[in-house]
Amino acid sequence: ALDVGRDLGGAILNVRAYEREHRLVTELQALDTYKSQLIATVSHELKNPLTSVLGHLEILESVEGLPGPVRTSLNAMERGARRLGRVVDDLLLLAKVGDPDNPVVARPVDLRTIVDDVVELTAVEAERRHLTVTVEAGSEQVLASGDATELDRVVSNLVSNALKYTAEGGRITVSVARVGSEVELLCSDEGLGISAEDQKQLFTEFFRSSNPAAVAQPGTGLGLAIVSRIVQRHGGHIAVESELGKGSTFRVLLPAA
Ligand code: ADP
Repeated sequence: ALDVGRDLGGAILNVRAYEREHRLVTELQALDTYKSQLIATVSHELKNPLTSVLGHLEILESVEGLPGPVRTSLNAMERGARRLGRVVDDLLLLAKVGDPDNPVVARPVDLRTIVDDVVELTAVEAERRHLTVTVEAGSEQVLASGDATELDRVVSNLVSNALKYTAEGGRITVSVARVGSEVELLCSDEGLGISAEDQKQLFTEFFRSSNPAAVAQPGTGLGLAIVSRIVQRHGGHIAVESELGKGSTFRVLLPAA
């Protein structure tokens, strides 16, 4: 027999729980938007004075006959300002690729050429640290549908991480292939690896592993957040497979052109 009272009571409780959850999600979304706007505003405000500081430092450094300690200080200031500039640029890019009012203008992008260019740029660093970087790709073009500059950024962030977090003598493999209606980019290394715990937070802004060997490398924790936002806004997918001490493989799927 039907117990109308009980069923109705249960239904009302369900609706209330749903409403609570909905309110919470809306509040979190508003907070997230606020955070993104704050980051974007602060980065814009930092950009101009920083450019001016760098310009004036260059003028000072070009003065001849400066005492040695003064030149050393100016050089240290310039390095610091440049590093700050890179952080600000990353923050501006993060805001840009996270802005829903600024969608991707998709064109066919030759992923293979991007990978070749990025790997070529790492050659000096790879040789210095005795790393082997291999590109695996067929002879055909692998065309993704997207923004070339942003996809270049995806490849270069993944490859530069692979180099950064792999010890001397290690191997790194980057491959591109067409898989059905998508293109696949794989970036594998035999480096430090990432614990299961860290993997959960890998794509969050400012996340850096507490693994001492990883902390020893310079970084801001913005690289993978940028990568994942770019992949998402292209309608793609990113995943990582990794084991501590063995290495990591990042797999990116993007819509094919
Ligand atoms: P950054 O390298 O500037 O710290 P990322 O967002 O690119 O920032 O990476 C976040 C963290 O993820 C790194 O600090 C590092 O601990 C870990 N990580 C990223 N890529 C790798 C990799 N290929 N191997 C091991 N750890 C990695």
